[in-house]
Amino acid sequence: MTTVDLRSDTVTQPTPDMRAAMMAATLGDDVFGDDPTVNALQERIAALTGKEAALFMSSGTQSNLCGILAHCGRGDEYIVGQLAHTYRYEGGGAAVFGSVQPQPLTQDAQGRMSLSDIAAAIKPDDPHFARTRLLCLENTWNGHVMPDAYLRSATELARERGLNTHLDGARVFNAAVASATTDQTALQRLRAIADHFESLSVCFSKGLGAPVGSALCGSTELIARARRIRKMAGGGLRQAGLLAACALHALDHHVERLADDHANARRLAEGLRGIDGLTVKSAETNIVFVDVASGRGPALLAFLKANGVLATGLIGLRFVTHLDVDAAGIDHAVATVRRFFAEAPAHPSVAGRSGPY
Ligand SMILES: *Cc1c(COP(=O)(O)O)cnc(C)c1O
Repeated sequence: MTTVDLRSDTVTQPTPDMRAAMMAATLGDDVFGDDPTVNALQERIAALTGKEAALFMSSGTQSNLCGILAHCGRGDEYIVGQLAHTYRYEGGGAAVFGSVQPQPLTQDAQGRMSLSDIAAAIKPDDPHFARTRLLCLENTWNGHVMPDAYLRSATELARERGLNTHLDGARVFNAAVASATTDQTALQRLRAIADHFESLSVCFSKGLGAPVGSALCGSTELIARARRIRKMAGGGLRQAGLLAACALHALDHHVERLADDHANARRLAEGLRGIDGLTVKSAETNIVFVDVASGRGPALLAFLKANGVLATGLIGLRFVTHLDVDAAGIDHAVATVRRFFAEAPAHPSVAGRSGPY
């Protein structure tokens, strides 16, 4: 039985071509700054995002951490969504390692903090308060593409009030591909999104399919500060060109194909729609959230697993499409969900029970 692994787009295996690119990479010691493959990647992603410089990072978490700490010092504050990755899922690193206080704000269903909440959260220059220094946004957020108009108004507000701006763009390539039009290519969209921010972090290890790595992009000065912090965080890697080669390969070959992942997410959403007991949320990019009625989420998850389909979640399930899942895999996932509800239809008597599976 082959497994259809929809837990995350981080589970992809490097393709044979990517492995070949890795083996062919020219290497140096990146702590001395002389790994040509790392340098090529950094120049490439800086150019793609329209920033002066970029720094290769071990992970998105490390990249956001170094970014926030390059913007903020001890006793400073950053404004961030209550459910944003940097606030919620990165171990509180900015507070732990940088004494940077997060100011989390409520987000709407699309991940947006309201402009009035942001404005009200910016503290005056008064010794009672932490110094508000940075606004941090995320795109995509839970698979939603942040509208350009929102990115513009939120970052303009921040700038007017003297704040810097950082984008957690772990899946910004998905946002760029999903919002490409006949007038703007995906790479032009990437540039347009990045233009709103002083800095952004991008992941190569998610939809782009590289095994490891992210990059922080920003001004030469910001990246110099981030390099020092990355070294302190143990992120000074030596022959990192092995990994950078995979990321370069991904930039060459795996950007446009994100559209396939988005099509597969839509195929999954379509297939699941209309099943009694499920509510399918939108599938704008490569993530599909499904609410499962009557507390049957864990039972469905276990049934899927027993039948070779992996997802995550509890009340709501999350399915993420990627490079290693094709349309046939999606169809298998849909058929398995249908079978679960056909064999044990939703009924009040099973509410809250984890069921026979
Ligand atoms: C995955 C992710 C990150 C960073 O993840 P790592 O696992 O540390 O690479 C950051 N932000 C968002 C929104 C993510 O989805």
